[in-house]
Amino acid sequence: MPATRVAIIGGGIVGLATALRLQQRLPQLQITVYEKEPAVGRHQTGNNSGVLHAGLYYKPGSAKARLAVQGVRQMVAFCQAHEIAHEICGKLVVATDPSELPRLHDLHQRGLQNGLSGLSLLSPGQIREIEPHAAGLLALRVPEEGIVDYPQVCHVMVGLLTAGGATVRTNCAITSIEPGWVLNGQYEADFLINCAGLQCDRVSALAGERRRARIIPFRGEYYMLKPDSQHLVRHLIYPVPDPAFPFLGVHFTRLIHGGVEAGPNAVLAFAREGYRWNQVSLPDLWDALTFPGLWRFLVRYPSMASYEIRRSLSHKLFCASLQRLVPAIQPADIERGGAGVRAQAMLPNGDLVQDFLIVDSAKALHLLNAPSPAATASLAIGDEIVNRVVGRLT
Ligand SMILES: Cc1cc2nc3c(=O)[nH]c(=O)nc-3n(C[C@H](O)[C@H](O)[C@H](O)COP(=O)(O)OP(=O)(O)OC[C@H]3O[C@@H](n4cnc5c(N)ncnc54)[C@H](O)[C@@H]3O)c2cc1C
Repeated sequence: MPATRVAIIGGGIVGLATALRLQQRLPQLQITVYEKEPAVGRHQTGNNSGVLHAGLYYKPGSAKARLAVQGVRQMVAFCQAHEIAHEICGKLVVATDPSELPRLHDLHQRGLQNGLSGLSLLSPGQIREIEPHAAGLLALRVPEEGIVDYPQVCHVMVGLLTAGGATVRTNCAITSIEPGWVLNGQYEADFLINCAGLQCDRVSALAGERRRARIIPFRGEYYMLKPDSQHLVRHLIYPVPDPAFPFLGVHFTRLIHGGVEAGPNAVLAFAREGYRWNQVSLPDLWDALTFPGLWRFLVRYPSMASYEIRRSLSHKLFCASLQRLVPAIQPADIERGGAGVRAQAMLPNGDLVQDFLIVDSAKALHLLNAPSPAATASLAIGDEIVNRVVGRLT
């Protein structure tokens, strides 16, 4: 009997991790990963904060909570096994205002419920022992978190996949899908897995799915601490998040190969892969602006939206938000860095989809929302996807 052919669209960390888990479980499959860029991991995976998240923030019982906790342990084991640069340096989530204290305590409870180990609350004196320049009334220390080189993770995954007989086809944008499946009129597959990140809703539509959620691209811009100021941050310093906007709140991240990043903010990108204000795609902009959910979202949170735009344009305002965590930091200590674009699924009523979202059909699976911490959790997401599809592949 000929081998079952599986097409995975998207060579980001989630598509690659899914391919790898599939190959490990069912080595007889003929797996092809299709990636439109010249190399894998060029979008969210290659432009993120490089943090190993341990599942602190997520609603207990949600897929995010479950897969983040399993995922960070799997990712650390993977990095150890393949000598990938990483460091479990721990993170501090710092309350700088009395109004944040109840939320910090809630976060502590959430972390405990989600099964994180070693969590502890730190007094201002204890904060300063770990981060001498951080402000804070109280901090939650998360010792399981760390930093990693995600592009290197992808590179190793590609090596394992190809050694195991899979194909990773780069420079291959999937632009048409005929039922059955035939991709771009030439590549045949028995089963389709859509991990196309910022384009996942469009790919699902190509495969005949109704678009239930729309991907709205939110750019996250970073500043870098100048070399002389990097001593202000030792590891990872995070604010207490607002549960309504889990991705808001700039933080400090030491990078695995040196340097300290500050950010990211969140502004609407004018192109799904728009890393600068001047990158505009009319079809992408049309897609976002004609989606009623975006307008409902903006009407609900007008001050948040305008603050994010002003902060994106103002070096001083960006620095002021960093000073809440590290008061000594001055505008002269930071310079503009890179940016990433989040693929955030939004519903027509304007709600952000908070959890990972997977939609199945008989011969396909679509991952329609895989925001942070999907890089950390990618191997666990891969396991989850394999568990869902395995019965349909044999
Ligand atoms: C600013 C920012 C900071 C973040 N920080 C963290 C963090 O510190 N830790 C963490 O765990 N997560 C973080 N995340 C989230 C994390 O990066 C993503 O959840 C994760 O990378 C998603 O991986 P992916 O493979 O689904 O998407 P992507 O990496 O975007 O990959 C999707 C791939 O599909 C390809 N593709 C799209 N359409 C097609 C097509 N038609 N044909 C062929 N290929 C196609 C794209 O080119 C792309 O390579 C962050 C994200 C952002 C944006």
